[in-house]
Amino acid sequence: MTTSSLPKGRVNICTPDAVIETSVLRVRKSSPVPTGARRYNRQAFLQTIHTMLPHEKDNNLALLLASLGISDALLARKALPFHPDARELAPAETSADGRTHLLIPPASKSWSAMKAAAYEDGIVIEIVSAFRDVEEQAQIILDKQARGMDMEAILTLSAPPGYSEHHTGRAVDINTPGCEEREEPFEATEAFRWLTTHAARFGFVLSYPRGNALGFIYEPWHWFYQPGAQA
Ligand SMILES: [Zn+2]
Repeated sequence: MTTSSLPKGRVNICTPDAVIETSVLRVRKSSPVPTGARRYNRQAFLQTIHTMLPHEKDNNLALLLASLGISDALLARKALPFHPDARELAPAETSADGRTHLLIPPASKSWSAMKAAAYEDGIVIEIVSAFRDVEEQAQIILDKQARGMDMEAILTLSAPPGYSEHHTGRAVDINTPGCEEREEPFEATEAFRWLTTHAARFGFVLSYPRGNALGFIYEPWHWFYQPGAQA
């Protein structure tokens, strides 16, 4: 079953089968690190990052990138825009697991308005991930490396630290109940169709459509607060 053969007009058709078959490159969130795979010392790494990134994150970013094996040449080839960390953040939503997702205040306010408008139309949208700092982004890269992925493949899924839109406090990964988080079948949901029609009105635009120039996979769940970007 491929995405193109999915039935149209149904809510929450993100079945596990569809997810597996349409997500060859995605790392399964539930996948254990295979025995014998390259191991890393998470505790030691985090201590290192903490000492590397106290007050001068930008100055130390080059060291952090080098420690992850992301070369200047690779960065230059990817030509990704740099995204500094947001300076002011506000709670946008708290997940069922108690995690609070942060956005810059205007994006948080607009998210709330958009969520309410969707709900009035019978659509539930939820935040999976919003603001992430450089350290969290580094950990995402590390987790994929620990599962044996090479950097070329990783950088089609995740931006290097310093280059993620999530650093800005303007990006949200969106999901709807019953759908696997951050998987392509999200595009077949009523929630995605609603966003396609209405999100621009609230200042949110899709960052990574199919065939995007930045080389990321198609991410129907990732939206960026940029009021005025689309008429
Ligand atoms: Zn995202």
